[in-house]
Amino acid sequence: MDGSRTVGTPPVLILLGPPGAGKGTQARMLEERFGLVQLSTGDLLRAAVASGSEAGKAAKSVMEAGGLVSDDIVLAILRDRLAEPDCAGGVILDGFPRTTAQAEALDQMLAETGQQIDAAILLEVDDVKMVVRIAGRFTCGACGEGYHDTFKKPKVPDTCDACGARQMTRRADDNAKTVMSRLDAYHEQTAPLIAYYADKAVLRRVDAMQDIAAVQDALAALTQRVMA
Ligand code: AMP
Repeated sequence: MDGSRTVGTPPVLILLGPPGAGKGTQARMLEERFGLVQLSTGDLLRAAVASGSEAGKAAKSVMEAGGLVSDDIVLAILRDRLAEPDCAGGVILDGFPRTTAQAEALDQMLAETGQQIDAAILLEVDDVKMVVRIAGRFTCGACGEGYHDTFKKPKVPDTCDACGARQMTRRADDNAKTVMSRLDAYHEQTAPLIAYYADKAVLRRVDAMQDIAAVQDALAALTQRVMA
């Protein structure tokens, strides 16, 4: 990649990495700092499950087992979300694509609107430590801000620093057994995307074992370069 992007098209960034690497936390930072919209297929699927839609019913048990939801369901959800007006300023994809078929479908979707992927950023982590990271995390149910028992505690216990709500929630699939299955799914089905994006010369790597602020700085600098 020569560092330049097609002028006039909204930026498209992908965050790659295993569960627990910090994709959600970092995507939210990029959203605020660069005016991009975070598209998390995990969040979209959890919303579908909560709404009781047909897609949600089909996804629920797969998600609880730590497997991957079918490409058909995920692609339909993503396509609908991408078509919403707020995505016109650029997006950061968090947790998508997760299979080669999804990556190919994304290329096709973007080609239809003359867009392309500006960077696929791999958050590199040590897998063994991911189980601990995931087991300690929780989220504000009101605004979605992420926290961690060890690495990012709220200033006032059980109270969101960002919005003041007292509605902390923990994901049903953030338990050690499901995390192992999610890591297996990552290695078997998602890790091949590293080579896929390296071949397209859009792969970038960030050491995500550093603390959250250092990862944030590295990602912000990279995004700045990519969007220039
Ligand atoms: P996440 O919030 O990204 O950790 O995703 C939580 C769960 O949602 C995963 O373990 C999968 O079951 C499902 N999921 C999220 N994104 C995808 C995707 N792109 N393809 C298939 N399944 C997904």
